[in-house]
Amino acid sequence: MHTVIIIGGGPVGLFAAICLAFQGIASIVIEKHSTTTNHPKARGVNGRSMELFRCFDLEGQMKQYQMPREACRFTWLEDFQGKEITRIKANVDYSFYSPTENAVIAQDDVEQELFKKAQSLPLIDLRFNTKMTDLIQDDEKVTIEVLNKNTNQTETLTASYLIAADGAKSSIRELFNVEMEGVDNLGVFCNIYCEMNLDKYVMHRPSACFMLTQSEIGGTFILSKKGLRRWLIGVPIDPDQNLTEEVFTDDFCIEYVKKVINDPDVEVHLINKSFWTMAALIAKQYRIGRIFLAGDAAHRLPPTGGFGMNTGIQDAHNLAWKLAMVINEQADESLLDTYFTERVQIAKTNMHWSITNAKRFEKIFIALSENDLTTFEEALKDQTHHINNILLDLGFIYGTEYQTQENYKPSAKLGARAPHCWLDKDNKEISTLDLYKNQFVLVCHPEAHYWQEQFHKFPCKIVTVGEQGDYSDKNDDFLEQYEISKKGAVLVRPDGHVAWRSKDENGEMAQFSWLVDLK
Ligand SMILES: Cc1cc2nc3c(=O)[nH]c(=O)nc-3n(C[C@H](O)[C@H](O)[C@H](O)COP(=O)(O)OP(=O)(O)OC[C@H]3O[C@@H](n4cnc5c(N)ncnc54)[C@H](O)[C@@H]3O)c2cc1C
Repeated sequence: MHTVIIIGGGPVGLFAAICLAFQGIASIVIEKHSTTTNHPKARGVNGRSMELFRCFDLEGQMKQYQMPREACRFTWLEDFQGKEITRIKANVDYSFYSPTENAVIAQDDVEQELFKKAQSLPLIDLRFNTKMTDLIQDDEKVTIEVLNKNTNQTETLTASYLIAADGAKSSIRELFNVEMEGVDNLGVFCNIYCEMNLDKYVMHRPSACFMLTQSEIGGTFILSKKGLRRWLIGVPIDPDQNLTEEVFTDDFCIEYVKKVINDPDVEVHLINKSFWTMAALIAKQYRIGRIFLAGDAAHRLPPTGGFGMNTGIQDAHNLAWKLAMVINEQADESLLDTYFTERVQIAKTNMHWSITNAKRFEKIFIALSENDLTTFEEALKDQTHHINNILLDLGFIYGTEYQTQENYKPSAKLGARAPHCWLDKDNKEISTLDLYKNQFVLVCHPEAHYWQEQFHKFPCKIVTVGEQGDYSDKNDDFLEQYEISKKGAVLVRPDGHVAWRSKDENGEMAQFSWLVDLK
């Protein structure tokens, strides 16, 4: 019997396998395609995802594909031959808050690096070109049937737990009749992925996304990819304008892109195309017995805001340490229920934000169609809120309601992502975030003797920061950022969120109902 089966080798499934492997848990990943995606959708990798990649030694690999910092923006054009309207840029300086920063990296590059990492970890068994065809579970295990498309053989596999990272159309979610809440059709789009040389139109203004306003092609967006002349053209399918799915043959797609570029010298080579429905839906439960939904299988967010993949990556990170503790008999099963309560709140917040952004776009196009230039300009300015969202990126706090203010202040409150501070040991600089990888960590000043003693038997690593400590406090801001005195302490979970804090010596010892009594 396997420990964990993961269905889906997209970004969320692969990342879940990596997180589990870092917790010492073996998994098997079943993916029906023979390779990672050849149709990159996401571009926006947010700061928290980059922090998690850093945690698993992936930050450097990911950065190879990162577009230049200035490309973190939307450029609005009438069309490529017409006038540029404005550039809306990301203007948050992450260096105050994080050892890394958000990045523009195409999803195929992200997946490829996750795949390579997973391949290098002996605890992960990658089975691509293999489709899950059946699934049942009982009190002790899950059992799946898979079809190996290389050999045409079927095989039965069992495991203690299963993660369903099988995407927006999740057959597992459907099999167990998990209901979704929200709106299921906010528009249908055709993504045309093609190769073409747009250097003369884009080299002087690299942008993650070009938005076109000219009425015949209005709403078309163009997503960039670093290094290659490959572009994803998103076209709203509008039956009122005779644009239906049937119309989008390969030839039509090429002609459409040519019309968008409007330059006979630009040759267009179609790579592939895909239709997708924008939806805003969240599953009413993420757990069905031994099965856990993650990523798009659990929530379908409009891509306006760039939160789909990011939210899924963080689902996997939240779930992995909990599964590991239960599998290692350090925690009882009730810990696994917190996966839903914590993550659904974040999905709801991110969905709310993504819908708001979709409405921001809509306002622009309505104003244009009504020739209302005042509203058009106001709505364009409002786009800055679309791409600057550090509060949702780094500031989400488990167990706390949605916050509407946009100013982000790092916090070591219960449930918050533990703040970043630079530390130093033997002239090697690390971030506090680098400490939180695969176990609970008690961080405190070396003078916090009381808490170091209290936590002696707790399954955690104790790290002291400050003079004579394990690490020196490079910018002298550790106590301030963690909002504790020299006698206080903070317990950080394996996913980098605060589990417990006592500002000084007078607090209550940490208590967790799910923790198995360790004698
Ligand atoms: C135009 C567009 C732009 C976007 N931009 C962003 C962005 O900037 N930032 C962001 O965070 N998100 C963005 N997204 C969303 C992002 O692409 C998705 O959220 C992400 O792909 C979800 O990852 P996943 O692993 O959950 O699912 P998927 O990527 O869909 O992967 C699921 C995998 O499961 C496999 N599978 C399914 N059923 C089976 C089976 N029975 N057996 C074996 N394998 C199976 C599938 O083949 C697939 O590989 C965007 C989406 C679109 C459409």
